[in-house]
Amino acid sequence: MIIRNLERAIRESSHIVCLLGISVSADCGCFNYRNLDNAYSVESKYGYSPEEILSANFFGTRTKAFYDFYRNEILSHLGEPLEPMPTLKKLENEHKVFSVITRSIYGLPMRAGLANHVDMHGTVYEYKCTHCGKEYGMDYVLHSQGIPFCSCGAPIRPKIVLAGEMIPNEMITASAGEVEKADTLLVLGCSLRSTLARYAVKYFEGSKIILINEEENYSDAIADLACHAKPGEVLPMIC
Ligand SMILES: [Zn+2]
Repeated sequence: MIIRNLERAIRESSHIVCLLGISVSADCGCFNYRNLDNAYSVESKYGYSPEEILSANFFGTRTKAFYDFYRNEILSHLGEPLEPMPTLKKLENEHKVFSVITRSIYGLPMRAGLANHVDMHGTVYEYKCTHCGKEYGMDYVLHSQGIPFCSCGAPIRPKIVLAGEMIPNEMITASAGEVEKADTLLVLGCSLRSTLARYAVKYFEGSKIILINEEENYSDAIADLACHAKPGEVLPMIC
C-alpha cells in the first residue's frame, strides 16, 4: 500500500528536491564517522574521536595526524554511487528531480552524474592551499604522502567544512533557493530531526514531504508519507 502511495506521490510531483542523508552514504560504503562503532574504533586507533580530528583546530595544530586519519579512513572508504543514486539520476533525466542537497562529503551526486547538487559541506574531491588558495584535486593528495603541500610550501586542505567552521554563505543561499522552488521534498536516509532536514523544512513551501529512512523517528509525523526501509531498496521500486 505504502509503495503504491509513494509511487503516486512521485508521479504527481513536478519539482522534487531531494535531501540526501548520512544513511545513504553509509549504504553506499562511504566511511560513516558519525556511526558510534566507527567513532569508537577511530578513538582507540588514533586517540581522538572523528569529530575532534575533523575540526579546524585539529587540522591547524596536528596536520600530520589529521592526514593519517583522513587517508586511512576517509579516502580509503569512498564508497560507490549505488542505489538510490542511479534512480535519482533517472528522475533528473525525467525532469522530476531538480536538485539534490546533502551534507555528505563523498560527492555521491557528482559521481552519479547528477547535474544539480548542493554539497553543503564540500567534498573530498576538492582541495585548496591554506595560504595562497591554489586549488587541487583529489589525485594530488592521493599521489602525495603525509601532509600534501602546495607549490608555495603551505599545507593544502580538503574543501570540506570542518568542525568549528561555518557553512559557506553561497551554499546556504543555493540550498534555500532550491528548496523554496520544490513542490515535493524527498528526504532519503535521514530523519526530519537531522540538521539537514530541519534546516530545509524551514524554507519548504511545497505540498508534500516524502520520507524514506530505515530508522523510525517521532518527527516522521511531519512527513506526508513515511516509509521505513532503505532508500536504495525503495526508490527504484517507486520510480
Ligand atoms: Zn599555496
